Amino acid sequence: MEYKQIIDKIFSAVKAEKATGKVADYIPELATISADKFGIYLFGLDGKNCEAGDSREKFSIQSILKVLSFTLAFELVGEKIWERVDVEPSGTAFNSLVQLEYEKGIPRNPLINAGALVICDILISELNDPEKEFIGFVKELAGTSEINYNLRIAASEKAHAYRNAALVNLMKSFGNIHNNTDRVLDFYFTICSIEMTCQELARTFTLFANRGINHFTGNRVISSSKSKRISAIMQTCGFYDEAGEFTFRVGIPGKSGVGGGIAAVYPGHYSVAVWSPLLNDKGNSVRGMKALEMLTTLSEASVF
Ligand code: GLN
Repeated sequence: MEYKQIIDKIFSAVKAEKATGKVADYIPELATISADKFGIYLFGLDGKNCEAGDSREKFSIQSILKVLSFTLAFELVGEKIWERVDVEPSGTAFNSLVQLEYEKGIPRNPLINAGALVICDILISELNDPEKEFIGFVKELAGTSEINYNLRIAASEKAHAYRNAALVNLMKSFGNIHNNTDRVLDFYFTICSIEMTCQELARTFTLFANRGINHFTGNRVISSSKSKRISAIMQTCGFYDEAGEFTFRVGIPGKSGVGGGIAAVYPGHYSVAVWSPLLNDKGNSVRGMKALEMLTTLSEASVF
């Protein structure tokens, strides 16, 4: 079956089924979104792109950004990064504190909140103007300048920052945060607030489908080895305590966010972004996971 037919089939199936799940409300500004939004965009490296639903509507990418911030930090500091963060799945919620205490402030991986906060700390140390340079990096990958932070969402998250504040302070006590903790939190909330459409997100993630080369400029951004490693971390850690379930059902690397988005890649073939704000109790999009499961099942193609 052609990908276009599969995307159409996914769209009809999703629309026909009664939606379950809940829109994230711990960041009040995210709760204002309409629950029945659904969009999907598949970017084929062969130039065959297809889409359905609200694929050109902006949404808050939230934790999906952690893949991009990690990519930039890994490129800037290289292998030294592993002194500050590990590569093991956590098996716990994205904002969990439990492992940090007995693992002495070293987060399990860069895709949980603790790891992403350490990555923010590294970027603040390495960049002259972190907010500006980071969004510049994302725009370059997406091949468009139409990408911005939503500072209302960042402020809304900051007003309810209790867990992230606890994480950053605990890591500071172990010496794994070098900058001011408020500065790290502000930068983290700002970069989590990036808004993109499914089309822009799929375009951005072509970097990993294309094994480290920017598809739009032809420039190598990261080595193919780094692209492999980042994709491996997405596969094992991209869905927190549901990373096994996502791998089992979908079988390609991906990353979710509490805005309801998922970006995933089939290296050498395509990148895909899907958005539906209704989340399961692990904080992952119910319809998003279902859509990607249908995609790899109907195409009979995945990394496994
Ligand atoms: N900004 C969100 C938080 O820290 C991101 C979480 C997510 O998307 N899973 O809670």
